[in-house]
Amino acid sequence: MAVRIVDKVDIADYKGENPCLSCASIGRTFGISRERVRQILTDIGQKTRAIIPHYCKVCGKQIFKKVGRRYVPRMCEECKSQRIILVSCDYCGELFPRRAKLVVTLSKRGYNHTFHNYSCQQNYYWQHKKRAINDFCS
Ligand SMILES: [Zn+2]
Ligand SMILES: [Zn+2]
Repeated sequence: MAVRIVDKVDIADYKGENPCLSCASIGRTFGISRERVRQILTDIGQKTRAIIPHYCKVCGKQIFKKVGRRYVPRMCEECKSQRIILVSCDYCGELFPRRAKLVVTLSKRGYNHTFHNYSCQQNYYWQHKKRAINDFCS
């Protein structure tokens, strides 16, 4: 096995640009082991753990977790300050107002789609069902 000399600075830079990557995936990119990446980053004094990005459940903007805090907010500051927000219907695309709290509650329960009324919801699911059937038959 050929020994590859990897520049420590390259790895540190790469990690700096891609904080979400784990040591294992950095190692794969550079062709070295996960453990070696961890050693290099520790030597340089960089954090080795991958930063998991969080997104606002309302507007989808990325939220940066405060260092040393375990609690991750579900909404960005901007959305938090607004009690009523505009969301778009996943079926017809129409914007409609909804309480920000409700949007968060729904996403917590696993509802990934928003509809502005029952008929849009029905139409949406029917369309998807039809597509699934078509895919299955073709
Ligand atoms: Zn937001
Ligand atoms: Zn609609």
